[in-house]
Amino acid sequence: MDILLSADQRRFKEECRIFAENEIAPLAAKYGETDDIPGELVRAMADAQLFRLLVPEETGGRGVKSMPICLVREQLAGVYCVADVTFAMQGLGSYPIVLAGNGEQKARFLTRLGSGEILSTYALTEPEAGSDVSAITSRARETDGGFVLNGLKRFISNGNAADIAVTFAKTPLPGNARALSALVVEKRMEGFRVHKRLKAIAPHDLVELEFADCFVPRENLLGSVGDGMKIALKTLDRFRVSVGAAALGIAQVAFGAAVDYAKQRVQFGRPIAGFQGTQFKLADMATELDAARALVYRAALLQDAKGDNITRAASMAKMYATEAAFRIVDQSLQIHGGMGVMAGSTIERLYREIRALRIYEGTTEIQKLIIAKSLTEG
Ligand SMILES: Cc1cc2nc3c(=O)[nH]c(=O)nc-3n(C[C@H](O)[C@H](O)[C@H](O)COP(=O)(O)OP(=O)(O)OC[C@H]3O[C@@H](n4cnc5c(N)ncnc54)[C@H](O)[C@@H]3O)c2cc1C
Repeated sequence: MDILLSADQRRFKEECRIFAENEIAPLAAKYGETDDIPGELVRAMADAQLFRLLVPEETGGRGVKSMPICLVREQLAGVYCVADVTFAMQGLGSYPIVLAGNGEQKARFLTRLGSGEILSTYALTEPEAGSDVSAITSRARETDGGFVLNGLKRFISNGNAADIAVTFAKTPLPGNARALSALVVEKRMEGFRVHKRLKAIAPHDLVELEFADCFVPRENLLGSVGDGMKIALKTLDRFRVSVGAAALGIAQVAFGAAVDYAKQRVQFGRPIAGFQGTQFKLADMATELDAARALVYRAALLQDAKGDNITRAASMAKMYATEAAFRIVDQSLQIHGGMGVMAGSTIERLYREIRALRIYEGTTEIQKLIIAKSLTEG
C-alpha cells in the first residue's frame, strides 16, 4: 500500500520504523505497562522532533499534516501504546490552539508543546456526555477578567501527566443554552485537579478531571465565547484518521506474529501454516490489513490536499481500520492457541490494547451515523 506514498513519505515512514525499533522498543521493555508517562519517553520523542509535527511552522513546527502524523502513529502503536497515546494527545490538546488561538496564545503554548517541554490533553467527555457532546454540564461562568469553571471530565487521556487541558464547558448564550467554549486550563490553576485515576484494560494515563470554582483568565479562552463545539469537532475531525493509523500499527504486529507462529508451530506432524484453515485466516488478515491501510492513507492524503472537509473519508478510515484491526488481532490470537491468552505475551497485550480504539474519538456506531448522514443529507 506504500504505493500511495511519495518517496519522501516512504522515507519518513522508514525513519519512524527505525526510531520505534531502536529508541521506543527499549523504553517499552524498561517501563512496561505503566499508566505513568515516563519522562525519558517524552524526551526521546521530543529529541526525534515528533511533537513538532503537531504545531505550525510559525511556532517552530513542521505544519500539522495528516500523513506524517498517521505514519508516526502507525509505527509507534504496535511497539508501545504509551508512546502512541502521548503523541496523539499532544496533537489533540494542541490543535484547538492551532485552530482558534490568537498570536499570543500560540506563542505561549504551541512553542512549548512542539518542543515537548509541556504536555497537553483534550477534555470533552463527561459522565453524562459521551457520544452526545451536547449533554455537557461543565459550566464556565463569565466573571471579571475570566471564567469560573465547575464540572467533571471523565476518560481523559494523559490527564495526569498533562500540563494543560483544553477543556470544553457550557457558556450559555441568548438563543443557545448549550453553547460551549474552549478554555486552556493550566495545571497550576487553583480548583483544577485530577479527581481520580482510572484503570483501563491496557496501559493508559486515564483520569477524571475536576474543576471546582477554578478561575480561568480570559486570555485562556480560545476563539470567542460559543466557539467550543466547532473547535471540539474540528479537532476530532483532524485526528480521527490517525486513530485508524494506530490501529494499522497494532494489526501489523499481530499479523506478523501470526505468520511467524503459524510457520513454527507443529501439530499433526507439520507446521499449522500448512493447514488450509490457517491459510484462509492469514489470507483474510492480509487483505483486511491492506484495505484498512488504503482507507487510512486515502483519508490522510485527502486531508492534506483538501483541508478538514473530508469527514466521510475520515470516518470510514477510522471505523474500518479499528474494526479490521480488532478482527486481525483476534485471529492472530486464535492462531496462537493457548499461548495467545498467556499474560505477558505480545498478542495478549495487543488484544487488550486494540479494544479502546473502537470506542474513543467517536465509537464505530457514531462513525456509521456520520457516514450515513453524509450520504443521505444535503
Ligand atoms: C481509553 C479511552 C481514552 C479516552 N480519552 C479521551 C480523552 O482524552 N478526552 C475525551 O474527551 N474523551 C476521551 N475518551 C472518551 C471517549 O471519546 C468516549 O468514551 C466515547 O466518545 C464514547 O462515549 P461513552 O463512553 O460515554 O459511551 P456512550 O456514548 O454512552 O455510548 C455507549 C454505546 O452506545 C452507542 N451509542 C451512543 N449513541 C448512539 C447512537 N446515537 N446511535 C447508535 N449507537 C449509539 C455507542 O456507540 C456505544 O456503543 C476516552 C475513552 C477511552 C475508552
